[in-house]
Amino acid sequence: MPPLAALESPRLDWQRDDTGEEAPRSADFDDVYFSRHDGRAETEHVFLGGNRLPERFASWRERRPFVIGETGFGTGLNMLCAWACFNAHAAAGARLHLVSTEKFPLDREDLARALAIWPDLARHAEALVAQWPEPVAGVHRLRLDRGVTLDLHFGDAAERLALLDGRVDAWFLDGFAPSKNPEMWQPELFEAMAARSRPGATFATFTCAGVVKRGLKAAGFAWRKVPGFGRKREMLAGEVAAPTEDARRDGTPWFTPPPARPSHRVAVIGAGIAGTSVAAALAERGVVVTLFDRECPGAGASGNAQGALYVKLAAETNHQSRVYLAGLLHSRRWLSRLDPGQSLWSPCGVLQLALNEKEQARQARFLERHPLPTGVVEGASVEQATERAGVDTEAPALDYPQAGWVRPRALCQRLAETPGIAFRQAEVIRLTAECDGWRLLLGDGTTLDVDQVVIATATLANGFPQTRTLPLQPVRGQVSRVRLAPDAPGLGRVVCAGGYVPPPLDGWLTFGATFLPNDADSGVRESDHLANLAELERTLPAYVAVLRDGGADLTPSGLEGRAGVRAASPDKSPYAGPVPDAEAWQEDYAELARDATRIPDIPGRHHDGLWISAAHGSRGLSSAPLCAELLASRICDEPLPLEQPLVDHLHPGRRLIRDLVQGKHGSAAAGVGNSS
Ligand code: SAM
Repeated sequence: MPPLAALESPRLDWQRDDTGEEAPRSADFDDVYFSRHDGRAETEHVFLGGNRLPERFASWRERRPFVIGETGFGTGLNMLCAWACFNAHAAAGARLHLVSTEKFPLDREDLARALAIWPDLARHAEALVAQWPEPVAGVHRLRLDRGVTLDLHFGDAAERLALLDGRVDAWFLDGFAPSKNPEMWQPELFEAMAARSRPGATFATFTCAGVVKRGLKAAGFAWRKVPGFGRKREMLAGEVAAPTEDARRDGTPWFTPPPARPSHRVAVIGAGIAGTSVAAALAERGVVVTLFDRECPGAGASGNAQGALYVKLAAETNHQSRVYLAGLLHSRRWLSRLDPGQSLWSPCGVLQLALNEKEQARQARFLERHPLPTGVVEGASVEQATERAGVDTEAPALDYPQAGWVRPRALCQRLAETPGIAFRQAEVIRLTAECDGWRLLLGDGTTLDVDQVVIATATLANGFPQTRTLPLQPVRGQVSRVRLAPDAPGLGRVVCAGGYVPPPLDGWLTFGATFLPNDADSGVRESDHLANLAELERTLPAYVAVLRDGGADLTPSGLEGRAGVRAASPDKSPYAGPVPDAEAWQEDYAELARDATRIPDIPGRHHDGLWISAAHGSRGLSSAPLCAELLASRICDEPLPLEQPLVDHLHPGRRLIRDLVQGKHGSAAAGVGNSS
């Protein structure tokens, strides 16, 4: 996959047209973003008309969203026009999913300036500008409106479309003219489009260049010349000629997703951050959700009054870091939409202190290898860290301005109240596959029939036979908190080292948490208070001294605590995906134990309609909302919000394959859940 780095900004010239309006022109490519005479009418003619969108929107009756794919997002004019056209023509309840690639994203101010030309798109532009992501390579999911989603795939069009996990109904083949930007109009682009087309997918483009006609034809599109816009005599429109196969995984057939099935009623088991975020993501898509928990929402490990929204990224880029960074940026946008008033969270930023030379060297290596925008992460000197924290830190740091803290318990409660979710306080004892769905047996002896089920019960997932062999390790974590005097000084950032210390909230300073693998006890312990106090003193000694001077009782007897049991996977990445049929995998992929290069061409068999989101460890606030989108998107047959290799990285069956290759399949079959 391409490096995790900031993308280059385009150099723009602003030119006035005959009416006095100004429009952007690319100084790098010497071409316009849209026609200076009537960009709007051109978009409507070429891309909307060329794909017959008004008629297709009007007759769209599928439960899944209509999907448009685009090369070259630019100012977003095409996509905003498609959204306005959808609103004008589609039936109530129909949904639209926009996927667009962009290698040189405009900055937020330029985007707003370019879109200001179209007053009747002001509402649409505002939603886009408000959520406009940092220029980081990767997928950025924006919820533009009820039922309208935009996935921005930042990076090169051909590269990004080859990584897309999803299929498209209509393509907007846009870009600077082939003569001005020949690098984009390559065979790989047309091939990636064809491979990600639904049967019958259409395309339209403003150009009739030979390289485009040849590329489209070679990739399997049929094209015809149709009248162009304004002074352009002709343009191309057409459709994919041969239906493409369903998404098979070359070289990793076990990750082939199960076929889509009806998803009208879904049960979600577990009302922590993993379960409530999945339930809300499904309910927003019109699914009828029953959310189960033995206790109330947010009662388990997600039940702290305050928790850190943070990530710790590896010095060397790996898939786990990619997932967590995408997750952090997603959580930030998601929380802004869910709670614009910030009663449940604060984007105050997080400082990851480097308290010793080893960590300083690691952070330096990280910054060298990850030239990310400063709006995402930057190095902070001791002085800068001190100024931003508001107290003496005595150490340099990595500063994540997008991160912060959340009220996890209140967040779970809010999510569980999403319209479309029925919460039931009950234990699910057994899950039985029926011919067209699942039957849940509840603790009171009653049953419930649903189409699909999501398990989000952390380590308790091992209690169901279908997920018994999934390696899940319990990790006990206790937070401590101390009452502060009303005039006690605050903190400007969450400060992390071995643990985390968020700014005081409601008169309490919270700090922690302990991390005790293979300990499933949730009683509050003095030894954990002592460990948290030692870590607090190590992280912020000057702050501790000030608080003590102010009368804070920083001794175990002066503290309150709360302990929870989190779940971790052996590789410390979450599980988010379909539940594999472990016995079938042992049988189908047994050959891998003898020779890992002999890959049987058998798609992975799964427990149809059974899903899991678990093993979020202590970073669920960063990972669970993105995993929730991933599961809801897969269940509802939509494009996914992560690149395919990252989707596979999260697949709950990954350890089964690893164990098979390493000859450890006996232990998995015997249900040994704690292999590491
Ligand atoms: N569709 C846009 C709109 O509605 O405003 C106009 C697109 S503009 C003509 C072309 C866009 O393609 C620019 O934003 C440019 O940065 C982008 N682009 C150029 N080369 C690219 C590539 N290889 N991959 C993805 N995007 C690219």
